[in-house]
Amino acid sequence: MNKTPPSSKQTLATPTVSSQIGSSIIHSSLKRLTLDGNISFENIDYATKDFGNRYHFLPLAVLNPKSISDISTTVSLVFGMGSSTDITIAARGHGHSLEGQAQVRGGVIVNMESLRIAEMHFNTGKKAYVDVSGGELWINILHESLKHGLTPKSWTDYLHLTVGGTLSNAGVSGQAFRHGPQINNVYQLDVVTGKGDVVTCSDDQNTDLFYGVLGGLGQFGIITRARIALEPAPTMVKWIRLLYSDFSIFSKDQEFLISSQNSLDYIEGFVIINRTGLVNNWRSSFNPKDPVQASQFKSEGKVLFCLEVAKYFNPENKSNINQNIDAILSELSYIRSTLFESEVSYVQFLDRVHIGEMKLREKGLWEVPHPWLNLLIPKSKIREFAAEVFGNILTDTSNGPILIYPVNKSKWRNGTSTVTPEENVFYLVAFLSSVMPYSTGKDGLEHILNQNNRILNFCKRNELGVKQYLPHYNTQDEWKAHFGKQWEVFKRRKSTYDPLAILAPGHRIFKKAV
Ligand code: FAD
Repeated sequence: MNKTPPSSKQTLATPTVSSQIGSSIIHSSLKRLTLDGNISFENIDYATKDFGNRYHFLPLAVLNPKSISDISTTVSLVFGMGSSTDITIAARGHGHSLEGQAQVRGGVIVNMESLRIAEMHFNTGKKAYVDVSGGELWINILHESLKHGLTPKSWTDYLHLTVGGTLSNAGVSGQAFRHGPQINNVYQLDVVTGKGDVVTCSDDQNTDLFYGVLGGLGQFGIITRARIALEPAPTMVKWIRLLYSDFSIFSKDQEFLISSQNSLDYIEGFVIINRTGLVNNWRSSFNPKDPVQASQFKSEGKVLFCLEVAKYFNPENKSNINQNIDAILSELSYIRSTLFESEVSYVQFLDRVHIGEMKLREKGLWEVPHPWLNLLIPKSKIREFAAEVFGNILTDTSNGPILIYPVNKSKWRNGTSTVTPEENVFYLVAFLSSVMPYSTGKDGLEHILNQNNRILNFCKRNELGVKQYLPHYNTQDEWKAHFGKQWEVFKRRKSTYDPLAILAPGHRIFKKAV
């Protein structure tokens, strides 16, 4: 594995295939495959990049599939070579992983976006759904669904990610408190296993594979089609932010909101430490209706907590919605002068992070290293966590948004591969740091990694029962600890569906035996 040292320039790893079958034989076997799409051996440097921008592995080839059979043929070829070669295969969605998870050194990348050829197939009946390619971007699914007056129920904050990429993790956003994560809102999958078999799976067909693949970090198969649950789409969103200076009151209100039968559609929150500016605000395009009041609010250097909620509506029932929201807000204990409201279209709301992306791209601040840390923290430990992290570790700086919001475990499907804390309610806390180019200071890579380690060490030392979301580890022992009692099932599924450990080597969970 080739990890870019904090201060050095990024370099491309040379492909190395140490195997009994030489790389030239593999090369010509791949070249001879009869495919609907094609396989490239040149101009494939883009496959060495991801959003994390810290790991860079050069593959041998990139498969641009035009059919499911292209993927199955390629996996079958590599499977057929047995353990005489260490060649492996990684599906690459939109490449928005953080630590090389969608990369493979000297192996084959499956460029899933090239499979986006089939038209999306909609069922607009009572149990509405859409069948999409595993390489489809969520933003495209949104636009197509809206043409039918429908929408998926559960989202990520950013929609320029593929279905296969988010379902391999969980797919969590402010709708998860009600609908569960995206892995809860899928009826059926088509999967190419590590043996090259094409398998349809669902709650009642090949269930073990279905549950394994959901949150399965790409370890058991490549998702080629997903059947996504839909509901009627609203047109507008009331988007509200409220500030708190006391974490206990903030989190009590968040927990109240996710537990009550109120009709909010989205509940998140974030931490404001000492700084504003583009890097901290890029996930949002929130423009309060009263910008003067918003700009006049002074935090006086204090750490603040912002509750963010949204209510979907159609213009014809706006007055009912306003009454309904007033009733909900009257139960909360935010700082009364800090109610900021905005009204935007449903698409603007869901695609809000993309606006920040475009601004950052203009300034050359999008393709920087992103040493993100995402944690799932049991409700009983969140106050202890917040006191140490926001009171001690991160007091003087923040290098990007810090999201924090609770979800109900009862809304998460049991038995998937995603690992969550043991309690009924847990928080997602996401430290979404960006490294400033050439910085060796507090916004440099070394400093941020150091802060991440301090946070992780604190959790470990105090046995908070925290789990990483979008997890990344270097050793199998760390993975075993991550999976805990789910490890045996995960291992058994690997040996059933990908016995040679061909798929998704970038997670460093299993190593192909040669
Ligand atoms: P890739 O990075 O291409 O792949 C990710 C992993 O999935 C790899 O291991 C890959 O091999 C595997 N994979 C890809 N496609 C398939 C497939 N078809 N079948 C099987 N395995 C596959 N996550 C959230 O939950 N909520 C958020 O709000 C959120 N916001 C984000 C915002 C930004 C700006 C970014 C960069 C990421 C965000 N994420 C969020 C994380 C994101 O969901 C994951 O990083 C996701 O894996 C990225 O999808 P991708 O299509 O880019 O996948």
